[in-house]
Amino acid sequence: MGLLQRTKVCGELRSCNAGDEVVLNGWAHRVRDLGGVMFVDLRDRSGLVQLVLDPSAFPNRAEIRSETCLAVTGKVRERAEETKNPKMETGDVEVVVTGYTVLGPSKTLPFPLNDEDQMVNVNEDLRIKYRYLDLRRPSMYRRLAIRSSLINRIRRHMEEQGFIEVETPIITKSTPEGARDYLVPYRLEPGKFYALPQSPQQYKQLLMVAGIERYFQIAKCFRDESQRADRQPEFTQLDLEMSFVVQEDVLQLTEGMLRDVLNAVIGQFGLDKDPVETFERLTFDESMHLYGCDKPDLRFGLQLFDASDAFADSEFGVFRNAVESGGVIRGVRYPGGAGLSRKEVGQLEEFAREFGAKGLATLAFESENDVKGSIAKFVSADKAAELRKLSGAEPGDLLCMVADDYATANNVLYRLRLEIGERCGLRNPRELKFCWVVDFPLVEWDAEAGRWSPTHHPFTSPKEEDLVYLDSDPGRIRADCYDVVCNGTEMASGSIRIHRTDIQARIFKLLGIDEKTQQDRFGHILEAFSFGAPPHGGIAPGIDRLAMALTDTENIREVIAFPKVGNGYDPLMDAPSTVDAQQWAELGLRLSK
Ligand code: ASP
Repeated sequence: MGLLQRTKVCGELRSCNAGDEVVLNGWAHRVRDLGGVMFVDLRDRSGLVQLVLDPSAFPNRAEIRSETCLAVTGKVRERAEETKNPKMETGDVEVVVTGYTVLGPSKTLPFPLNDEDQMVNVNEDLRIKYRYLDLRRPSMYRRLAIRSSLINRIRRHMEEQGFIEVETPIITKSTPEGARDYLVPYRLEPGKFYALPQSPQQYKQLLMVAGIERYFQIAKCFRDESQRADRQPEFTQLDLEMSFVVQEDVLQLTEGMLRDVLNAVIGQFGLDKDPVETFERLTFDESMHLYGCDKPDLRFGLQLFDASDAFADSEFGVFRNAVESGGVIRGVRYPGGAGLSRKEVGQLEEFAREFGAKGLATLAFESENDVKGSIAKFVSADKAAELRKLSGAEPGDLLCMVADDYATANNVLYRLRLEIGERCGLRNPRELKFCWVVDFPLVEWDAEAGRWSPTHHPFTSPKEEDLVYLDSDPGRIRADCYDVVCNGTEMASGSIRIHRTDIQARIFKLLGIDEKTQQDRFGHILEAFSFGAPPHGGIAPGIDRLAMALTDTENIREVIAFPKVGNGYDPLMDAPSTVDAQQWAELGLRLSK
């Protein structure tokens, strides 16, 4: 570039630079040709600065359009007081252009890049098709920079703690994490496939057998599952594993790392977040009981209450029958909800039905023990007082109750609680409220498949003391298995692993994986465990989700440079796409009609 190479970046110019001759490189962010004078906001990744051009000196100036890439020479000058722009960091100065060169002309853009507010109206698929333009926006650059800092700080922290980063293969054998595999056909033996890893789970366990003791990796994981706002077919985890540890060691290491790293990133970028504090701890059972789910949003209270005993002998048939048939009556408090209209209460009921409730019983505390609502006539003054005590209701509150089996009632109330929290504005947007959920059940009954399936994955260790239930009552076995949850989202899952071949074989059997399948799919790891396997455990926090929490976005695609859209499609590269006939033939593949 020679003489055209920049001597300053746009965002650094201030009054103290007035009088400096500078060369700038960047993109024309906004162009305003007023006839007598032309203004161009020049942008590079450091920021924007206003250029001033004398139209008579630049007859070809129409070639400077939005997003033209330019090299500019000019002189910095202090702006007149009344034209200073306090909204721009460089707003005290402008650069009077003495010459420019178009480094890269630009066609008309598919969407304008200079109005962040307008971007919400731009179709997301179009943004991703032209991601290289979308990423030019300062807000997108900032997200990538935050992500980069997050990853770098994690790497540093892990190395300081004695971990080494080991890369594990991408084309490999299936490692189940509960999703479908992405398969890669093997050219040399048609009919055989590699699988892309759903996680590096097996390799990291093999690395423990290999004596690495402390492993981590910023790992790509691939899962072919239906997409949601917080899921992508490929995503990134901080995968880690440690030897000679118990659950508490993994918890402490992980919590220390997350707090240290997140607080440093919050400070570095001046994010609108309070420092992350000590993680609360809940067992799975407590979490289900208090919040109806295993990923509670602890930014607000509103714990569920259980009124099964209070209503066991109720005159209200629905309640009495529910309790008699082994169900529960559980509810959640709606602060200030007594003032809702009939229609609004109807909407809440509709909401509850969407998630499987047969109905929603409501009780409004107009004043002390004066109650109204769908079940008021079944509630005596004594019962009302009892319910107030159970639920913590104040005058003006509404109680929403569901009579059903424990799982259904919890699921409905979990969602209703979030809805109420949202409506009442109970979440503090500055808060990143982390907690641990521990002691998950080892297995859950998969009614569709008619068998037990792992709550986490098949390598998770049962709690020693619960092994007695293995044959009699597997659903009762708790595992050394833990999740990190932040603001109601699962951020990480991990566990202490089974390192004994005999126990692993028993668990495989419980999961209905017969011996031949065990050997075919996991023979290598079972054999590895027979050569002095150390006790080990680990966890894998999701990098994308951490970046989402830091940048306040609910869309995972906003923190990934080149994401897929719905159905796993990449509109930028047009992938997946067809391949030529020769490649089909080489792979021994044919499309069945
Ligand atoms: N492989 C697990 C997962 O991807 C994490 C772990 O158990 O360490 O969720």
